[in-house]
Order: sequence, then structure tokens, then C-alpha cells
Amino acid sequence: MPESNDILEIRQSVRQLCAKYGEDYWLQLDRERGFPTEFVSELTESGFLTVLIPEEYGGAGLGVYEASIIMEEVCRSGAHAGACHAQMYVMGSVLRHGSDEQKKTYLPKIAAGELRLQSFAVTEPTTGTDTTSLKTVARRDGDNYIINGQKVWISRIEHSDPMVLLARTTAKNAVTKKTDGLSAFIVDVREAVGNGLEIRPIESMINHHSCELFFDDLVLPKANLLGEEGKGFKVILDGMNAERILIGAECVGDGRYFIDKATAYARDRTVFGRPIGQNQGVQFPIARCYAEVEAAWLMVEKAANMFDAGETCGAEANMSKMLASEASWHAGDVCMQTHGGFAFAKEYHIERKFRETRLYQIAPISTNLILSFIGEHVLNLPRSF
Ligand SMILES: Cc1cc2nc3c(=O)[nH]c(=O)nc-3n(C[C@H](O)[C@H](O)[C@H](O)COP(=O)(O)OP(=O)(O)OC[C@H]3O[C@@H](n4cnc5c(N)ncnc54)[C@H](O)[C@@H]3O)c2cc1C
Repeated sequence: MPESNDILEIRQSVRQLCAKYGEDYWLQLDRERGFPTEFVSELTESGFLTVLIPEEYGGAGLGVYEASIIMEEVCRSGAHAGACHAQMYVMGSVLRHGSDEQKKTYLPKIAAGELRLQSFAVTEPTTGTDTTSLKTVARRDGDNYIINGQKVWISRIEHSDPMVLLARTTAKNAVTKKTDGLSAFIVDVREAVGNGLEIRPIESMINHHSCELFFDDLVLPKANLLGEEGKGFKVILDGMNAERILIGAECVGDGRYFIDKATAYARDRTVFGRPIGQNQGVQFPIARCYAEVEAAWLMVEKAANMFDAGETCGAEANMSKMLASEASWHAGDVCMQTHGGFAFAKEYHIERKFRETRLYQIAPISTNLILSFIGEHVLNLPRSF
């Protein structure tokens, strides 16, 4: 189906904004492990990073579909969306589960660019994907909760004002459903650091600003509970479905970036007296990747539209992330192969995107866990864990 004029306008505006930050900008940040503060600020000020916030709170009141278009364009431009995407999906948890008071406190400031909600702390070093076994605890103490535990790989925490945290309020062996007893909280990172929260950056393969977090008797007021006590898994899950769809869109953007680069190079590069793209051995892998990326986009669109219609879309959100992350990885590999030795030169930018897009088969959820979701929840096969 052709895209509407509104969508084409969004694409055009995001493209123009991204064009101001060329690939050398991203290369330099990758080298320095710097944060794209100017880019994120401009994306926020232009209203693109806050499209999901309802108009009454100062946002554009658009859906995950429009947000997907934005993130797809950001990635297709050669940018590294990892620096900013979380603002969109973390906000989903506040939007859907925040009290009126919390929405009034946070959303207008996020929409105005005064607060950055860029971090989502779920993963722990000893429990990994087994989220319901996480060990960070929030103990009720009068009008407060006392937080103790550890998180790992928490991205952009040094560039986030509040963050959303998942912790256990009731022990796993004291609940009948293992997803019960978990609670979500809004943590003011600036207040918490030095008062029960320690942050240690992790040196990693990509410029993702991920950190370890150590909680030692951090005191959180009861008012910071997001949603109902013990029902935090649902709060996080809503954010997670939006995250998977948006990551799927980003992977499609990466895939289209690789295909753009590969086709341009295959047309230009002459070896044995003809463009390498004239050889079907070079042309067919690119064509196959094109088909894979475009098919993945259809699943992203389907999942985004279902999410926006308020329909259950866990399977579609997961499938869109899985298909798109695999399609972008294949496209990255083919783009590398098409460029031959020059693929390794940083000035061609491909190796950076190749590293970046690899993440999405592992985070925010690994492919095996998606397959297990489809096997058990869609195909009704026996549970393995
Ligand atoms: C750069 C980066 C940024 C991140 N940012 C964040 C963030 O902001 N917030 C956050 O909370 N987390 C974040 N993460 C964490 C990420 O979500 C996890 O790394 C990911 O979910 C996988 O968890 P794990 O690393 O503990 O792997 P594990 O759970 O240890 O799994 C390791 C491997 O074993 C496989 N596996 C495990 N159990 C099974 C099973 N039963 N059947 C089949 N296969 C299985 C997995 O698929 C995986 O391939 C980030 C990670 C990275 C690398």
C-alpha cells in the first residue's frame, strides 16, 4: 500500500535532519565513544523523539507506526539510533501505566526536552534472559521502598534523567505466577547517584553507553511505583512490545542502508573491465537481501498497526524484531562482501554499521527466546522452561 502524504512528509523531514549529521559525525563519535548530544537534542526539539506523547502533554500524539518510520529513516541515514531510541519505548510504560500525577510530572517535561527518559533497567548479570528470576529487590519500608541489587548492560543511563527499573517486591517462591511479585519504578538517576546507586560504564564492541548499576539501600518514595505493586512485568512488557517493533524498524533501516551502499558500490566498482554488479554472483545476494528486508518491513508494519489499535501483538512484535534483525545482518554481510577489502576501511562506514546491527539478534531479546515464544505461545508446543 502506498504511504500517505503525512508519512512521506515525516520521512522527508527526518531525512533532512539526519543529513546535517553525516556519517563522519557518527564515525568520530564511535572513535571517541562520544554521545550524540546535538543530534538527540535536535531530534527531540523537532518533536520526532516525542511523537508518542499525547498532545495534551505536549507531544504529537502519534503511534508506534509513525515512530517506526522515524527510527527507520534515522538508521537508513547511517546514524546509530541506539543513542536515542529508548526515549520512545520507555515512555510507553509511563503512558500506559503511569498515574495522572506521574504523567503530569514527566510527560510535558520529556516533550519539551527538559527531561530525558532514555533508560530501562531489567537485565541482571546472574539471571540474564530469565527475567522473572531477577534478584534486585525493593523492600517496602513505610512510605518508601529500599532497593538492593545489581543490573548490567543498562544503556544510556549516564544520559538519562529518570529511568524505569524492574525489581522484586515479593519473592518468586511466594507467588503462584512467576511473573507476579515484580514491580516497576521510576528512579531519578541524578538524585540516586551517590545515594545508593553506583554506575560503572562497560567497554563494549559498539558505542552504546551501557553500564553496570549497583543498588545499595537506595531509598525510593512510594510515589515512584509505576503501575500496581507486583504487576510490574506487565508494565515492562508493554514497553517491550513497542521496543521490539521499533528495533525491527531500525533493523529495516540498517538493511536498506546496507543495500543502498552495496548497490551504489556494485554499480561503480569496475574489476575485469566491468562493474562488479554485472556479475550475478555479486548481484543476486544483494537482490535476496532486498527481498528479505522488504518482507521484514511488512511484519514491522503489521505489528505497529496492531500495537496502535490496542490489539495483542506479542507474537508480531517478536517476529518483526527477529526477521528484521536477521535481514539487516544478512544485508550487512553482503554489503561487506560487495565492498571487498574496502569494507574494512573505517572511512567507508560499513564496518561500524555491521557491528551495530549485530546487537539486535541478542538484545533486547535473543533470537532463541523469540523462537521459544512462538513455539510455546503461538504453536502451543510444550514449554521448555
Ligand atoms: C549493547 C547492549 C545494550 C543493552 N541494553 C540494555 C538495556 O538498556 N537494558 C536492559 O535491561 N538490558 C540491556 N541489554 C541486555 C540484553 O537485553 C541481554 O543481553 C539479552 O536479553 C540477552 O541476555 P543475556 O546477555 O543475559 O544472555 P543469556 O540469558 O545469558 O543467554 C545467552 C545465550 O543463551 C541463549 N539461551 C538462554 N536460555 C536459553 C533457552 N532456555 N533456550 C535456548 N537458548 C537459550 C540465549 O538465546 C543467548 O543466545 C543490553 C545488552 C547489550 C549487549
